[in-house]
Amino acid sequence: MVSAILAKPAPGEHVLVAGGAGYVGSHVAWLLCRLGFRVTVLDDLSTGHRDAVPDHASFIPCDLRDQEQVSGIFMETKPSAVMNFAARSLVGDSYRDPMGYIRHNLMIMTNLAQAAAANGVSSFLLSSTAAIFGTDGTGKISEAWPIHPNNPYGESKVMCEGVLRWLEEACGVHTAALRYFNASGALFCADLGEAHDPETHLIPIVIQAALGRRDHVDMFGADHPTPDGTCIRDYVHVLDLADAHVRALLALRKVGGLRYNVGSGTGYSVKDIIQATEEITGRRIATIVRPRRAGDPATLVACSDRIGRDLGWRPVNSALPTIIRSAWAWHAKHPDGFTGASPLPRPAMMALHA
Ligand code: UDP
Repeated sequence: MVSAILAKPAPGEHVLVAGGAGYVGSHVAWLLCRLGFRVTVLDDLSTGHRDAVPDHASFIPCDLRDQEQVSGIFMETKPSAVMNFAARSLVGDSYRDPMGYIRHNLMIMTNLAQAAAANGVSSFLLSSTAAIFGTDGTGKISEAWPIHPNNPYGESKVMCEGVLRWLEEACGVHTAALRYFNASGALFCADLGEAHDPETHLIPIVIQAALGRRDHVDMFGADHPTPDGTCIRDYVHVLDLADAHVRALLALRKVGGLRYNVGSGTGYSVKDIIQATEEITGRRIATIVRPRRAGDPATLVACSDRIGRDLGWRPVNSALPTIIRSAWAWHAKHPDGFTGASPLPRPAMMALHA
């Protein structure tokens, strides 16, 4: 089900994955390990989970906002490539603490970029987002779409992409930004998946309701300018995203300046997701209509033609039933997510090798 991967790692190729204990980062770290890359995960476990880090990766607990700590780790571990997944990433939450979001995400980005430039890193890949684009709800969003974020989270990623640009142009590091749409689904073995506390994302919430762990799903707005009044999103399987990251990493050996939108190209409304989950699980899911959530655009659907053309990427696992079945299997097998993981004290620093 992983369609990639045309090349083997170069000897000694070492990827530092910041935020690799989180949802998307852990799946990318898993795929990198499986393909034979050497992987070091840095994470403070504030929202990530130690048990989500693959066995074959090294894990270094780290407060990525601490420049001295970050720079010490780069000097010690000498990565050849960096992937940055570490960020606060909730649209609604970013309205409640806009400056905190921007400061946090930029501190991490600038610390990593500075350490990368100072330590001979050749490739840097940023986990970016569809939230950088303005949308008027017409048409699929390509890379040519205006950069015009609707919320502080999206703005923080625009700023991170700005750092990326100068890391490339002024420091000579090859860079890529993958702007993904709605990451979803889980590994097909059901042993790695999405676990947030509190959960705010639609698909896990709908599945928790199907499992009887919540009594209803709040629908944020039924008066959006969409056919059924609920927001439309482009759900892309997390393994397809992992595949995109590996393809971009391989391409960065030769070229820089890669900017790609990554989504399935198909939009589903909140009501579509609930109905599909009811059909797949055979459970009835109650809903309550609530006011719109701040910062939610009505429609976000990707045009991923560029990454398809340049890197041969295809969303092979992103049919909606595949996404929901894999998420359902993960949540049914691990209803409490990763248990036993707790945030690490700051500024602890110890290398734990699997
Ligand atoms: N949503 C919802 N109820 C929920 C969670 C999300 O109606 O309990 C909606 C949300 O307003 C958005 C869509 O589902 O339109 C996807 O939200 P999610 O938080 O999963 O991802 P986002 O698009 O914000 O990154």
